[in-house]
Amino acid sequence: MNEFMYIPDDEDIRLEKNKARELRRSPWWKRKCAKGVCYYCKNHFPASDLTMDHIVPLSRGGKTEKNNVVPCCKKCNSEKKSHLFMDWQPAAPPENK
Ligand SMILES: [Zn+2]
Repeated sequence: MNEFMYIPDDEDIRLEKNKARELRRSPWWKRKCAKGVCYYCKNHFPASDLTMDHIVPLSRGGKTEKNNVVPCCKKCNSEKKSHLFMDWQPAAPPENK
């Protein structure tokens, strides 16, 4: 048994998307966005520029749970989507010199 091999059907994905919509309205999520930090590139953004990202995508059997969703900037979100989950690495944050 490997949970990453689980292929969700359309109904599973629809339910998880509904959960995501509700979670986005929660105080927990608003607190996370208020910090204004992208989970992947660690850059700072206004809360309005952060989107909810599933670390394990729904299409790969990921769930809408607090330990699987992170605030993510639009750039990382679109870059991540264009890569396979396991292959994608965020750009390293700029070094402080
Ligand atoms: Zn980012």
